[in-house]
Amino acid sequence: MDIDQTGPDPSVRELIAQRQALSMHARDGLLLEEVPLAAIADALGTPAWVYGAGTIRARLAQLRRAFAPTRVHYAVKANDHLAVLRLMAQGGAGADVVSEGEMRRALAAGIAPAHIVFSGTGKTRAELEAALAAGIGQINAESVAEIDMIASAAALTGRTARIALRINPDVAAGTHDKISTGRAGDKFGIPWGEAAEVYARAATLARVEPVGLALHIGSQIVATAPYRAAWERLRALTLALRQAGHRVTRLDAGGGLGIAYRDETTVSPEALAGALGELLGDLDVETMIEPGRWLVAPAGVLLASVVLNKEDGAIVVIDAAMNDLARPAMYGAWHGIVPLDAATATRPAAPRMVVGPVCESSDIFARNRRLPPLPANSRVAILDAGAYGAVMSSVYNARPLAPIAMVDGAHWTTIRERQPVAAMWAGETIPEFLSG
Ligand SMILES: *Cc1c(COP(=O)(O)O)cnc(C)c1O
Repeated sequence: MDIDQTGPDPSVRELIAQRQALSMHARDGLLLEEVPLAAIADALGTPAWVYGAGTIRARLAQLRRAFAPTRVHYAVKANDHLAVLRLMAQGGAGADVVSEGEMRRALAAGIAPAHIVFSGTGKTRAELEAALAAGIGQINAESVAEIDMIASAAALTGRTARIALRINPDVAAGTHDKISTGRAGDKFGIPWGEAAEVYARAATLARVEPVGLALHIGSQIVATAPYRAAWERLRALTLALRQAGHRVTRLDAGGGLGIAYRDETTVSPEALAGALGELLGDLDVETMIEPGRWLVAPAGVLLASVVLNKEDGAIVVIDAAMNDLARPAMYGAWHGIVPLDAATATRPAAPRMVVGPVCESSDIFARNRRLPPLPANSRVAILDAGAYGAVMSSVYNARPLAPIAMVDGAHWTTIRERQPVAAMWAGETIPEFLSG
């Protein structure tokens, strides 16, 4: 997934052919589901995000079908827009949240508290109290210190905390270093060798009920082997805990299922579900998974306009930047770029660098990318931007948060306005001592 890839990039035609949500129409240009993206760019301006509701619905249905009876808890951090969360609720998913803010979003979108799992390495005492008061279904605890905090929050709120121990299975997910979370030495989870002792101790605490184990080994995982290794450990630990007389009724098998941003060979949900069934299916436990990216990444695009060309079109400056979509700058991530106009898309391609206007040398969306000429004012879609896109945006360089549209079949509507410029400093004050 590095920006400097070897081997030829997929062509514009291949990028579209490989994505069910996209098609190129001779007159209307690039469509997401059945809506011409040019119409949305005309109405909202650029940069602008567009999400496909039908696409999200179909992906959730496919995943739930593949994994049934395993429950799906959507990892809210991938895309926390209320409309996306409502689609998850309607499609039968619960939520995996990592902050009180995400919990509030999930509740506001109509996800039942019992179907919310609270994960995260540094939940604060206040967040734990809020989660217990809201009656959320499960807290994935990551340390002994956290379990003690949960016990005291439970005593204060008078609620019983159902906890799963997030174990660190010490497996490498074979993914980018910044999104690998299941190795010894990563900051996440309880070392699996200590899990039995921690579980036993948690069972002695009042108002704390250990119900099972959880793990999450990383993100954008495109192979089955790391999952198998982790789930084998989950299985062994479950059996060991039961041998020691503990009840284990839930296993949270994690998220991380990757997608093809460029030409990666990925694991199908069906194949992964097969592995899960094989390793955990006979344990008489409730199983759950917590995918984020796989459900929403291919359902979103970021629309941008070309501001100008430099060096005869070798450098294309667009009006979207790293503050909108951080993944290329942050992880060296590769995202497909497709012109919205059909005629433009078929012109002969040449290597180009596509950059944003932010004053950072990492504000680059593509290097050495074979693209047709992209003259000023032409428009492009940056693909697979539905996950870890808008949620990671900042207002760096005082660039307001971009608007968001949602398409559903042939309809579309705005689901977030462009942030008004003055809203960026709405909470700021100039102190009295600077007056005059
Ligand atoms: C980020 C995260 C996920 C989701 O990861 P994806 O790669 O988006 O599927 C699931 N569980 C936990 C605990 C996470 O931190």
